[in-house]
Amino acid sequence: MRIVLASSEVAPFAKTGGLADVAGALPKALAKLGHDLRVVLPRYRMVDAAKHRLRPMLASLPVPVAGRTEIAAIWQGEIGPVPVYFVQHDGYYDREALYQTKDGDYPDNAERFAFFSRAVLELSRVLEFIPDVYHCNDWQTGLIPTYLRTTLHGAREFHAAGVLFTVHNLGYQGLFGPEALAAADLGHDLFNPFGIEFYGKVNFLKAGLVFADLITTVSRKYSEEIQTEEFGHGLEGVLRARAKDLHGILNGIDYDEWHPSRDPYIAARFSQNDPAGKAACKADLQRAFGLPERADVPLLAVISRLASQKGMDLVAEALDALPDLDAQFVLLGTGEPVLHQAFEAAKARHGSRIGLKLGFDVGLSHKIEAGADMFLMPSRYEPCGLNQMYSLAYGTVPIVRATGGLDDTIQPFDPATGEGNGFKFAGTTSEALLETVRTAVAVYRQPEEWRRLVKNGMACDFSWDRSAREYEALYQQIVTRRTGKP
Ligand code: ADP
Repeated sequence: MRIVLASSEVAPFAKTGGLADVAGALPKALAKLGHDLRVVLPRYRMVDAAKHRLRPMLASLPVPVAGRTEIAAIWQGEIGPVPVYFVQHDGYYDREALYQTKDGDYPDNAERFAFFSRAVLELSRVLEFIPDVYHCNDWQTGLIPTYLRTTLHGAREFHAAGVLFTVHNLGYQGLFGPEALAAADLGHDLFNPFGIEFYGKVNFLKAGLVFADLITTVSRKYSEEIQTEEFGHGLEGVLRARAKDLHGILNGIDYDEWHPSRDPYIAARFSQNDPAGKAACKADLQRAFGLPERADVPLLAVISRLASQKGMDLVAEALDALPDLDAQFVLLGTGEPVLHQAFEAAKARHGSRIGLKLGFDVGLSHKIEAGADMFLMPSRYEPCGLNQMYSLAYGTVPIVRATGGLDDTIQPFDPATGEGNGFKFAGTTSEALLETVRTAVAVYRQPEEWRRLVKNGMACDFSWDRSAREYEALYQQIVTRRTGKP
């Protein structure tokens, strides 16, 4: 099949979160299954054209937006065998960040991503690569199905093209005032509850949910949760109405990037059969954070956006227990200023036990996965979560809240049977987290049991092949629906 995957971020070119990892890895797995893929993303300032050897491909692509025509240039690179197209428009994308600065979202985000969505379609026309399925991701691409089914409804070349829309996080919807309709060149007839209106605003994510042929989200559990008021962020009704077309496909992880036996970022390589190198990685991590180099302390870690979604307030509150547990803690993350302050304050109290890097650092994130003993993910909601799977691969034991993809991937360790790959809890208090950390530390102090638990985790397989086959089946279902042919 011919597939165009459109995403506002794609690793290794531009990344703020898990979406980039997925958009960078799934195309490789689909290409392995024999599909003809193209990936499209904006060319942000963050994209290093020299490092990734980007070449100019198309000097001038006219794209309608906001009642006028703007010109994009297209650059080409690749991920393995898959061509990747970068939409260049410096007015929209040559900026410090992808979506927002510390002063808030860019005020023209509606126009920036309406332009991107329309550019994806105009590019396929010019290249004469109209795919069987556009695989769209999150609100930034929600207008691709919208244009296909409204503005471009009469365009014969797009007639058979279907859309799979994947929700990576329902908490980010692309909400704008009604003026976004004009920015996106869309008519007022769509501004109603059955279209893209959402409590008086324009909602790009809802646009994707309404106009796509099929919808997926990134774990089975999250696909159920988002149909409830608690997790639906106001869109539960829309999702329930489309329940028959809504599927959960767990993200895989890219073992080319994340495997302790070949990771270039870590101090020593190790594997399930030869785990000795992990001790050197732990010492290296302690040094990197200026902590005492002790092999016998449990080293707890977090790599995360610092946001309340991630339950980081619970972690900050739990840190006063570190001396009692005789444990250390390292954190790599950036986000809400109150959380930065909370972690700084905890470090001021327990400096010899806490290491902080309040920033974004891909190399360090690998060192942490390799060197830590336990990884904390007390998320209030978590569509899939990647770090618990990276942790398992690196022999680092996840302690997670039982929600979304965390619930689907982590089975609690039972010392009696030796089964399980981590620890999980249900509450949303720091006490609930702490209680589970205490249980984990108790197991850590039983080296035989701990070795078994680590081994169970390292034996888990979350490679993309299985998920790619599930996507393939849905693409096929879309083709059958649109063409009537099996
Ligand atoms: P989300 O997409 O909600 O942020 P995921 O767990 O799906 O959460 O993916 C987060 C990805 O971003 C992981 O690859 C994680 O390692 C990475 N990441 C998050 N914060 C940082 C950081 N400060 N530095 C480096 N990588 C980070």
